[in-house]
Amino acid sequence: MQNSPLDSQAEAFSDGAARGAAYLKQLSTRQVKADLSFLNDLDAGLPDKGMGVKTILDLIETAGGPGTVASAAGRYFGYVIGGALPAASAARALLSAWDQVADDLTGPSVVRMEEAAISWIVDLLRLPEGTNGAFTTGATMSNMALLVTARDALLARQGHKRGDGLIGAPALRIVASAEIHATVQKSVRMAGLSTSSIEWVETDDQGRMRIDRLPELDARTLVLAQAGNVCTGASDPLDELGDRCQAAGAWLHVDGAFGLWARTADPVSAALKGLEKADSWVVDSHKTLNTPYDAGLALCRHPEEMQASMAIGAAYLPATAPNPANRAPEFSRSARGAETWAALLSLGRAGVAEMVTRFHRHAVRVSEELRALGFEVPHQVHFNQVFATLPGNEDACARIAEHVQNSGEAWFGQAQWQGRKGFRISVSNWATTDEDVDRLIAAVATAKTEVLELA
Ligand SMILES: *Cc1c(COP(=O)(O)O)cnc(C)c1O
Repeated sequence: MQNSPLDSQAEAFSDGAARGAAYLKQLSTRQVKADLSFLNDLDAGLPDKGMGVKTILDLIETAGGPGTVASAAGRYFGYVIGGALPAASAARALLSAWDQVADDLTGPSVVRMEEAAISWIVDLLRLPEGTNGAFTTGATMSNMALLVTARDALLARQGHKRGDGLIGAPALRIVASAEIHATVQKSVRMAGLSTSSIEWVETDDQGRMRIDRLPELDARTLVLAQAGNVCTGASDPLDELGDRCQAAGAWLHVDGAFGLWARTADPVSAALKGLEKADSWVVDSHKTLNTPYDAGLALCRHPEEMQASMAIGAAYLPATAPNPANRAPEFSRSARGAETWAALLSLGRAGVAEMVTRFHRHAVRVSEELRALGFEVPHQVHFNQVFATLPGNEDACARIAEHVQNSGEAWFGQAQWQGRKGFRISVSNWATTDEDVDRLIAAVATAKTEVLELA
């Protein structure tokens, strides 16, 4: 009997997986920052004759591997990246063989996994019954899909015809926290809305929207709040915001890319009181939940509004199929939500809470150790983010961050918050241990001494 062409794919697949496993095994001993010396080897020109799989994998391993940032390792504390839980990355590997398009007709089992994951998350986050949504590539696309939905819903409530889009539409107002994430403004622009007319609401000393500065709201207003400030981890006062928006008929949208997960754990969930009063929410899987990139979730308490804005309605598709593509911005999609399903199954309800609590515990410790080293952390540790600065020597902070990066011991970046220069540490990797935090702190201590001595 002849071999199937897919036998060679299976062989290549095993080779790729084995090399992935070898990569993971050396991550805790290698430097965290990328080694850029081999990047040119990745573009020696497109060959005339194709290369063998083994040669390609060799090239990826020898030239590409060193050029990765070891963000999958526990000593990476930059941005809010997160790692990948074993079940989630193993599911990714398996599912890449399946190569499913996440659609009822082309990938029924992965769609069922996504639907289950969405319902589990709605339950975990205690969002209103009936809340539904779609997996996207991340918070930016989720924000965009929901801003389009909010825009269309608010306009339709004003009697504007949906198909007309923004042509001849009454003006909408956008009220937003002054510390909303930079990508939300991009999402506002992609939704065809105006960033120049945003009514910014001042924030307090934790980076939370000041409710006493909230302008009068009305039924043409879209309020953009956040759960999880990237510098302080703080969340806007959602309970009061929810009441004010509901009374005025305004639409409350919450960007909780990493911070919405705080809802699952007692020590940090109180700050999200009233979250369920919003109209729409964004949460990433690829950050706090530790699934591989890229996976985010757009959730809406009015899924019929989301469907009205996102449905495809092509003549060749059965009209009745509750296809995820009718809620997601994309048409053909990978089954990224299946990795979220696997991550949630592997943790269970208690495991999610434990991981979130652990991130908080590490972040509290980081803040205490930094203070002991003479740094100022000018905020409470609300969740997993810590912003630190050096009083009287703020300019040294960027150099300290760079020194730590160059040491290879850990990685975090410089940051600015409320006019102060400093650096920011995010604890968002499932693999981070107490020992990783020890190494981070030791690297910061050395960096501080050496940077200040040089000055
Ligand atoms: C990371 C982040 C975003 C953007 O998310 P992506 O998944 O990278 O698109 C938006 N808002 C907040 C608060 C974030 O932390």
